[in-house]
This record gives sequence, structure tokens and C-alpha cells, in this order.
Amino acid sequence: MIPYGRQNITQSDIEAVVDVLKSNFLTQGPVVPEFEKSISQYAGVKHAVAVNSATSALHIACLALGVGRSDTVWTSPNSFVASANCAIYCGANVDFVDIDPGTYNISVEALHCKLRETERVGKLPKVVIPVHFAGQCCDIESIRQLADRYGFMVIEDASHAIGATYRNEPTGNCRYSDMTVFSFHPVKIITTGEGGMVTTNRQDLYDKLIRLRSHGITRNPELMTEPTHGPWYYQQIDLGFNYRMTDIQAALGCSQLSKLNEFVSRRRELAARYDNLLKHLPLSLPSFSPYAMSSWHLYVIRIQQDKISKTQRQVFDSLRNAGIGVNLHYIPIHLQPFYAARGFKQGDFPNAEQYYREAISLPLYYGMRDEDQDYIVSTLKSIL
Ligand SMILES: *Cc1c(COP(=O)(O)O)cnc(C)c1O
Repeated sequence: MIPYGRQNITQSDIEAVVDVLKSNFLTQGPVVPEFEKSISQYAGVKHAVAVNSATSALHIACLALGVGRSDTVWTSPNSFVASANCAIYCGANVDFVDIDPGTYNISVEALHCKLRETERVGKLPKVVIPVHFAGQCCDIESIRQLADRYGFMVIEDASHAIGATYRNEPTGNCRYSDMTVFSFHPVKIITTGEGGMVTTNRQDLYDKLIRLRSHGITRNPELMTEPTHGPWYYQQIDLGFNYRMTDIQAALGCSQLSKLNEFVSRRRELAARYDNLLKHLPLSLPSFSPYAMSSWHLYVIRIQQDKISKTQRQVFDSLRNAGIGVNLHYIPIHLQPFYAARGFKQGDFPNAEQYYREAISLPLYYGMRDEDQDYIVSTLKSIL
């Protein structure tokens, strides 16, 4: 089976990990700060906080912004469930903003409409989490303008988008947001096995994130309620978690990050090849925003139902039967039973629902060979 996504691990990655295994620290050693520094330099941002997953990163990002009961967080229904769950972890409410039918990202117009409506009833969101779907950045500057006007904060879910750019600047620089979250799950652009990162330019958020990642504990005497008892002393001043990344993972992260540009350029090449090879088929291909250069986490096609006699399901099954590991990103979050039980229903976000009825993610990963791609294209042609 050709998978839809796969990590690329080389001898140098393996050696980096083995070096840590032979060193004094498997966790809480020097490599996590090194990885954080490399990410912050890459993204052009002041601070980076490594954690054990993007899910944890989203959770502590919400907590750092003070999200709690009586607050509401908005995100895209076309995302992985973690983009919404992070608010529920904090006891907050979740709501969604429908997607743009071209980019499959949160629609800025729909966001603006919903803000106008909710302002009238006094229920504005505290935080909005735009998701850079498939690696293509949302129009984050426009979202920032709405944030300033309506007074909400912004966490970018850039789980798909390390290596992408927005107006020629790297994703994660937080020029238009409070924080950005990356994922290093093996299907994403670079991997640490499991892992995530929060970036921010705000010192206050950075201090909170550091504490929340490690039990809410501080060793900074200035933050303590009484003078230190001695060199062993620490105080727990918040309720935090053990969300730490290990040095083993961070070593893999540093090594992978050094190959990020190479990974992304191959993905761009493969995406351009798909564009070219698929352009005459009855499919909608990914669209381009003038302001964004995608990192191409996903290559999503949409079946044009009015032009073919096969259903999305038939096309999907035929591809799987031919050994092609297609997938579907995403089942609209609001239709998951957990969210349906909170009052959401079919029809709430029609663009995300329509998209779900037509979309198929084709395999795309750094190590995919041109021959694999040619096989996928010819199989798809014969199915259609
Ligand atoms: C993968 C993903 C996450 C969660 O990442 P983990 O590192 O697996 O916790 C969150 N949001 C989006 C959009 C993702 O694709």
C-alpha cells in the first residue's frame, strides 16, 4: 500500500537519537532548548516551547490565554478534533466558523458575519483558532484586523504548516497572532515521533507556557510567595501538566528541521506534478492563495459529482483496492457524536459538509517516487 503520508528517517536522524541515548540526559537535558532555539530562529519568533504533542500545545496555549468556563473558542470544522478539544479541556464552549469553499480554511467573511451577530448578543469569542489546512495559511492578517476590532485572541493551528509562508514570511513568526502551534507527528512535515511546539513573541505567555508544560512549577524566586528554603526549593503556583518533550525526541527534531526546506521543496514539486497530471480530470484541484506558499502537508482532490457517475465512496474504495492509501481530511468536527451531543447538527456548516462529501486526500510525502505518483494518477484516470 502506498501510504497517504510517511516520515523520512535517515542515518543522521538515527545517529542524533543514539547520541542522546548515550548521554547523561534522556529528558530535561540540553537538546530540548537547542530544538526550541532552532525552531524560533527558523520561524523568526522570540520564543518556542516544546511539548509532547500539538494537542498538548493547543491545550496550554488556551490556558495561557486564560480560557476557562464561560469563555467561547471558535475554530474551523474542517480540522482534526484536537483543534476544538483544547477549549473543552479548559471548560470552555466551542463554536465553529464555516470554511471557504476554495481554500478549505476558515472563511474570513463568515468569521466577520458571525462576529457581527454575536457582538449584538454579547457572546464574542475569547480566542479564535484558525487552522492552516493542508499547509496553506489562512489570511491571518485579515483575521488579526478582526481580532483587534472585536477583541479576541488568535492561536494559529499550524500543525500542517511548518515550512509554509504567509506574505513571504515563515509560519510561526506570530506577526498576526498570539501563538502558533506545530505538530511533529510522523505524518506531518517533520517529526519527533510524537511532539509539538508553541511559538510566541509575548514574554508573559512564554513564562506561563513553560510552567504549564511542567506541573505549574517555578524555580524563579521572584514568582515565589516566600524566600527560598534552599537550592532544592521550587513552588507550584499554577495547575500544570507533564507535557514535556524528551531530549530523544528533540534530537530527532533538530535533525529533521535541518532537512525541512528539502522536504518542503520535494512536496511542492510533487504537488505541482499532481496539478499538471490531474488537470483534465473531472476533479477540483487545490486552489492557491496569492499570499500563501503551502508546505503541502496534504494534496486534496474533490470529486465533481455532476461530471462523473461514480460516488466519492466508490472512487475511494477503488483507490484503496489498488493499493493506494488515500484518506479523508476531515470529518466535520461538529458532526462527531461528542459535538452533536453539545447541540451541533447537519446543516450547521454547509461548506465543510459539502467538502466532506467530495474530498479525497491523495498520498503525498517526501519519499514518494515519481513512479508511485504516476501509478496513482493512471489508476485514478481509469477509475473516473
Ligand atoms: C495533527 C493535528 C493536530 C494534533 O497533533 P498531535 O501532535 O498529533 O497532537 C492538531 N491539529 C491539526 C490540524 C492536526 O492536523
